[in-house]
Amino acid sequence: MGNIFFSHYKQGKRVILNILGIKIKFKLKSEKLLRLIPHKDLPMFEVHIAEHCNLNCQCCTHFSPLAEPEFLPLDDYEKDMKRMSELTTGKINVGSVHILGGEPLLNKNCTKYLELARKYFPNSVIRLITNGILLPQQPEEFWKVLSVNNITLAPTKYPIDINWKKIQDYCNQYKIKLDFYLVLGGVILLKQLINFLWI
Ligand code: SF4
Repeated sequence: MGNIFFSHYKQGKRVILNILGIKIKFKLKSEKLLRLIPHKDLPMFEVHIAEHCNLNCQCCTHFSPLAEPEFLPLDDYEKDMKRMSELTTGKINVGSVHILGGEPLLNKNCTKYLELARKYFPNSVIRLITNGILLPQQPEEFWKVLSVNNITLAPTKYPIDINWKKIQDYCNQYKIKLDFYLVLGGVILLKQLINFLWI
């Protein structure tokens, strides 16, 4: 999922943070230094389980409107998650894992990816980031998997007609945490920038 409200980019030795069109400039620490110093925290990493999307946003930062329909093979995903877990467990604190796309709910096995994320990262926040279009039609099993595996549902609210009340009701019924990504995206980005600039 791209984020149309928050972005950051490098300009010379500065990082420009764009929040709702307001630009804030930060001086960049030596990039060489940042790459050499081991970090004790990995605030977040993302996995695309579908490259394509059922929306066509102009500002998509994941290039999904250009992508051919493609899903990440479940076997490859499990191998990578297992390896990430081996590399980080006991050494690096992984704050959160984001399962997204494109639109992750286009992947019919979406819940299997979520279960594996929880299996290999038992102490991290696991978020499913979706544009929400396919949420109202998800079967009961979907909501149960989110609940049992303590998955946070993090939809981005686009200006399209989605029955958010129904989704909120499901989340209440199954005791699932619902965090809209508009607010969340800004907080995560700020935390990442702070880590990036001050280590
Ligand atoms: S909804 Fe789809 S097209 Fe729009 S920003 Fe998210 S991934 Fe990209």
